[in-house]
Amino acid sequence: MEDHGVALERAHTHALAWLVSLGTRPVPASASIEDVVARLGPDLPDGPSDPAEVVDLLAVACEPGLTAMPSGRFFGFVIGGTHPAALAADWLTSAWDQNSGLRRITPAHSAVEDVAERWLVDLLGLPEGSAVGFVTGGTMANFTCLAAGRDAVLREAGWDVAERGLVGGPGVRVLVGAERHDTVDLALRYLGLGAPEPVAVDGEGRIDPTALASALEDGDERPTMVVLQAGNVHSGAFDPFAEAVPLAHEHGAWVHVDGAFGLFAAASGTHRHLVAGFEAADSWATDAHKTLNVPYDCGLAIVRDRAALRASMGMHGDYLIHDEAGEPFDKVPEISRRGRAFPVWAVLRALGRDGVADLVDRLCTHATALAKGIGDIEGAEVLNDVVFTQVCAAFGDDDHTQAVVQAMLDDGTAWMTGSRWHDRAVLRVSVSNWSTSEDDVERSLAALREAAGR
Ligand SMILES: *Cc1c(COP(=O)(O)O)cnc(C)c1O
Repeated sequence: MEDHGVALERAHTHALAWLVSLGTRPVPASASIEDVVARLGPDLPDGPSDPAEVVDLLAVACEPGLTAMPSGRFFGFVIGGTHPAALAADWLTSAWDQNSGLRRITPAHSAVEDVAERWLVDLLGLPEGSAVGFVTGGTMANFTCLAAGRDAVLREAGWDVAERGLVGGPGVRVLVGAERHDTVDLALRYLGLGAPEPVAVDGEGRIDPTALASALEDGDERPTMVVLQAGNVHSGAFDPFAEAVPLAHEHGAWVHVDGAFGLFAAASGTHRHLVAGFEAADSWATDAHKTLNVPYDCGLAIVRDRAALRASMGMHGDYLIHDEAGEPFDKVPEISRRGRAFPVWAVLRALGRDGVADLVDRLCTHATALAKGIGDIEGAEVLNDVVFTQVCAAFGDDDHTQAVVQAMLDDGTAWMTGSRWHDRAVLRVSVSNWSTSEDDVERSLAALREAAGR
């Protein structure tokens, strides 16, 4: 126990120092990969070391090479921070070291997973009884949901994938919005379905229901899946679910919604209109490590038909299983996995229903303030309708926009990602950290004004 006590105390001290430093440290890392290797020492030692000393070495060597992703001024990609309750629960998760694949050996995790599943489905206003698989992230959530969908549409066509594989089968056609996230394509590749067929989108990246209708009616009779999106990474826009889902269902398609960061709009009374009609879909993917602010890694694969998910992910293969509860591993690709439900439960318990709504609303309010501030900068142009947490802006031509992105990174006050959208270099801002404050927004805008003026 001595070893544990000292090593954990050191980890606690280093963790707190890191969290305290977030308020003032530059957001980008100051050390390179080579610097960190040199600090750690490149060679595997022959003999053992004291665990506490190893923790010290790791912390000290890595600290300058850490990007302040949990900072309130990190607006890159769609990252999310770590809520204190979720972070602390994640520490316990590691200490408890539960292999949470089987119900009977880990009653505590199974209980927490059951409760968190019910809370999430309720909070998001999804069909009661939907299954939630706790996976590593949005990519695997898309994969898991689309596996259930693939197998279901093929089963409907009289083809059992588990038994016969894909070769020689009727095939599956997948329709996606032209601006779906790349990980949807990746998940489809893992599933042996090849590249999807893109359907036209509007100026905000929302799927065009008329184009979707004509694609569905073009005479291709293969079993079909339609992948819709809640939250475009550039514009934050949501597909028109109320029109698109019934259209797809009229053609017998499985409808999946990729809502890696946007699905949580459903938890806010103010923003729920963005997902109107999404509850009629068959599956939904989201990340807990983005908008919900649990530490990496945690994604949520939500499927209306529990038996369909179990048929695809379970080790029984059989569609009709009589064990009511099922096993946690029946809902995810892995057998052994960490207790991901603990931090999810903790953040939901800490925030409560109103707290989650307030979190979502605050992220959106900050995004609106950032858009307003950017719009006021001479020569800047906000390119999207800011309906959620994402802002896309250009500063004149591509060269100048890229120079502004670089100047922001060099300054270090905040991190915003450079990207391309609609064939244009853009600065992309994503507000996804619970701790972002008005002061963070002001400081970041001041740095951006400065960068744009250079
Ligand atoms: C982030 C994201 C993903 C992928 O999620 P990971 O957690 O990075 O695997 C998928 N879709 C959308 C819309 C995303 O924003």
